[in-house]
Amino acid sequence: MAKADRVAFLIDVDNTLLDNDRVKQHLESILRGQGGDAVERRFWELYEQVREDLGAVSVPVTLERLRLESDNPRATDRLGLRLYATPFSQFVYPGALEFLRWLRGVGVPVILSDGDPWFQAKKITDAGLGVAVGGNVLIFLHKENHVEDIRRWYPADRYVAVDDKADVLGLLRQGFGDVLTTLWIQQGHYARTRSSSEGTQPDFSVATVPDLRKVIDRIL
Ligand SMILES: [Mg+2]
Repeated sequence: MAKADRVAFLIDVDNTLLDNDRVKQHLESILRGQGGDAVERRFWELYEQVREDLGAVSVPVTLERLRLESDNPRATDRLGLRLYATPFSQFVYPGALEFLRWLRGVGVPVILSDGDPWFQAKKITDAGLGVAVGGNVLIFLHKENHVEDIRRWYPADRYVAVDDKADVLGLLRQGFGDVLTTLWIQQGHYARTRSSSEGTQPDFSVATVPDLRKVIDRIL
């Protein structure tokens, strides 16, 4: 990569910048503590149903379905408020905010997240990640289907994608072609799931956020 190239960094959120496995544990403890075992069990059943229906998970849609079938909808509303009040900044990985600020000095960092637009946006804002990238935030249900949009909104000579899912990196590589370098950060429960498509294995693998900087320094 030549020094003069404009580089855009496409950085995932869940289990890349923020420990989403721990966020999920936090949600579980609220559901159990405030709703009880039956409500918690039903919430996760509906959560999986939503994943099947929409092709992506959504806390707000899950809560809406839980509320519809509840005989005490106001209790569901109170539960929702507790879930939305999750202190997301406590789950940011060490060094993540510094890493994003450093990226602003070498290129354009863009948060490229998937998930439902409301809960995910709240997570990114409350965690301080949106501010750290100067407001460059894109959220799609499936980011790999939006390569043209990403290139139009953030034109660059080279792109670098960072994600905890090797499969997503493989799909992004198929969409972007050789202008994209892929960095697999092996954190969270996808840390050992290799890309299922041959020939699209990530270019680099790292264990933690501070390691990303070392690799990017080398390839710039
Ligand atoms: Mg992720």
